[in-house]
Amino acid sequence: MATDERLTAPRRRVLQLLLQADGPLKAYDLIAAYGETGEPAKPPTVYRALDFLERLGFAHRIESLNAFVPCRLDGENHAAAFLICSCCGAAEEFEPDFAPGRLAAEAKGYRVTSVTLEARGLCPTCQTG
Ligand SMILES: [Zn+2]
Ligand SMILES: [Zn+2]
Repeated sequence: MATDERLTAPRRRVLQLLLQADGPLKAYDLIAAYGETGEPAKPPTVYRALDFLERLGFAHRIESLNAFVPCRLDGENHAAAFLICSCCGAAEEFEPDFAPGRLAAEAKGYRVTSVTLEARGLCPTCQTG
């Protein structure tokens, strides 16, 4: 997926930073870490790259954290769900079964274009700590 021709240099760089990170990154973190030699990026470069990556399903935005994570699952534009640890901040992705929700939305005449579910709790490590 990193060889996708739609991944221009800035997009690839932002995706690389997301993949290297231990947890969700804010746009601000990405701007600061962007330059290989320490200089920050111009904010629009990072915002545009994030927009693209999110739209094509390479990355997801976690609204409640206002931060981004790389997609760890395959499949463009899938419904995304995150388990977010409120202790250590870990965010783990899983693919929700949103079929019933989609049917309920369609019954109300809505066409759903994206779904992100955020579940908060304690990760296995923090439960034992
Ligand atoms: Zn995903
Ligand atoms: Zn935790």
